[in-house]
Amino acid sequence: MITIAKNYLSIQEKVSAFEAKYARDPGSVKLIAVSKGRSSEEIELAFNLGQRDFAENYLQEFLDKREALKNFPMEWHFIGRIQSNKTREIAENFAWVESVDREKIASRLNEQRPKILPKLNVCIEVNISRDPNKTGVFEEEVLRLASVISGFENLKFRGLMTILHESKNAEMQRADFQKMKKIFEQVKNKGFEVDTLSMGMSGDFEEAIAAGSTQIRIGQAIFGKRPALHSPVL
Ligand SMILES: *Cc1c(COP(=O)(O)O)cnc(C)c1O
Repeated sequence: MITIAKNYLSIQEKVSAFEAKYARDPGSVKLIAVSKGRSSEEIELAFNLGQRDFAENYLQEFLDKREALKNFPMEWHFIGRIQSNKTREIAENFAWVESVDREKIASRLNEQRPKILPKLNVCIEVNISRDPNKTGVFEEEVLRLASVISGFENLKFRGLMTILHESKNAEMQRADFQKMKKIFEQVKNKGFEVDTLSMGMSGDFEEAIAAGSTQIRIGQAIFGKRPALHSPVL
């Protein structure tokens, strides 16, 4: 538990240091705590350290923990693979969905977002490494999906998200992150009002911040090595 506090402070210091090192504005990189595989007690601890944005990959695991955390004003981000039969509960329980990669999912989230809630913040997940086994759209599909999402009244298109290969070296990571930054600028230049470039995890957030990330998603560097997750199926 003390480790989480130490890790958390250390990440915050590193983010500030990298902002300075890469001439980014202070506070321009938002830290999202990825809490998949973590208990509600661990999440509460991070909350008590001041963390407000948390991300989860598996709907059922989230719903199980959410009950214990329902009185905490956290902002929840969904970052996992989305099955179409899970969209209603995602639309009802999250403030952000960062892993949208097809029109059908965007359309269902729009229909199922309760009108009494603020618009659902949405990012398009980009498969920047063009790995056929990974989720996300290829870069040439981004603008079309951006138009579709922007046309939905219950969604707010916020930007792009990506996950890199773990195996890549820092130089290759930086090249992929720079490609993402370029696509993000193209999206802006087309008139989309986006502010979120979600990239960088425990192993690669320095390169992501160097390339212009506005939001890093950190799990293990805050909570420690992740215990083996239960079934990867939702
Ligand atoms: C698990 C996960 C993370 C966090 O990874 P760590 O290596 O624990 O920092 C970030 N983004 C996504 C989409 C993830 O699935």
